[in-house]
Amino acid sequence: MKQPIQMVDLKTQYHHIENEINQSVIDCIASTSFINGPAVKEFQISLEKYLDVKHVIPCANGTDSLQIAMMALGLERGDEVICPSFTYVATAEVIGLLGLTPIMVEVDEKTFNITAEIIEKSITIKTKAIVPVHLYGQSCDMEPIMELAKKYNLFVIEDNAQAIGATYTFSDGRTAKTGTIGHIGSTSFFPSKNLGCYGDGGALMTNDDELAQKMRMIANHGQEKKYYHKVLGCNSRLDTIQAAILNIKLKHLDSYSQARNQMASYYDSVFADVKELQVPERQYNSSHVFHQYTMKVKNGKRDELQKFLSDKGIPSMIYYPLPLYKQEAFQQFVDSNFQLPITESLCDEVLSLPIHTEMELDSMEYVCSQVKSFFNN
Ligand SMILES: *Cc1c(COP(=O)(O)O)cnc(C)c1O
Repeated sequence: MKQPIQMVDLKTQYHHIENEINQSVIDCIASTSFINGPAVKEFQISLEKYLDVKHVIPCANGTDSLQIAMMALGLERGDEVICPSFTYVATAEVIGLLGLTPIMVEVDEKTFNITAEIIEKSITIKTKAIVPVHLYGQSCDMEPIMELAKKYNLFVIEDNAQAIGATYTFSDGRTAKTGTIGHIGSTSFFPSKNLGCYGDGGALMTNDDELAQKMRMIANHGQEKKYYHKVLGCNSRLDTIQAAILNIKLKHLDSYSQARNQMASYYDSVFADVKELQVPERQYNSSHVFHQYTMKVKNGKRDELQKFLSDKGIPSMIYYPLPLYKQEAFQQFVDSNFQLPITESLCDEVLSLPIHTEMELDSMEYVCSQVKSFFNN
């Protein structure tokens, strides 16, 4: 092995596209149009085309994109928004921050995602929106979720921070990219995300003209015309240099997803006969872009395995160790005896292995042989 194994290897990825990236960053600096420069518009248009969506609104990061989406829906203090409890904090954080009530629900134990069935049990008269998170890179089952939303007149905001590029297939054979199915989609370009820039970045997607206009206005201090402010907004822009980098990286996104899939299939085949491990379930109606390769360790030895791997120079991560409703910051939203058994067992069982676009076969073989030797397999 040429170098230590990493969860994500952004350095080698950069070396493969170094000339293109450097040139576009230098061009951007030379032009001095640092704020809303031409690269931002160019990226917006390229991403609209890639996702086949009417509007992309670039913004400063993924958390902002969720917040701007909530603000655009005209929700009121005390309105309830249903989201998973097994997700990154940002999903529920912005709900609480805006004075709305996050209703944190269970996830499906196989796909790690919320389902229409789970959501419906938590709908009340105060429910106004649902935030499905396409966790680890695979779409929630969106068709039944959209039908449910229609039945109860709810908004759907897809948190697509981990699944950009994934494709969902409807029962009639029609396909759509994740993030373009709900009323609004949100995403993040944090460096380690599947489409990552070299700092912070995010975007919103929608096919709704009115929502697009509102979100664009909110992200720009609530103004459509400079110095005339219609609503309270925020300052959330995608940096021009980041957009210039994303313009290069977007062209590689599909090949990156392919590389991740090859690695995942390799892990799957090697771990198939390790009975203590459950490899990630592939849903028949969604492609998987493997933001994470997350398996379940079924014999209660997850932490022991992680320590064992770490001693062998193999990093691994636990996404996520604590359900949101057990976090101190979220106690205000739940009773002290609130419990979601599947979420709690996932927090004890999941382990994500290194997966990225530049991993060499010998590194993968090494990871696999060490995992197998832990289980004496
Ligand atoms: C990364 C992430 C976010 C937040 O994105 P930032 O750009 O870091 O603000 C939100 N939701 C999920 C599911 C994420 O993984």
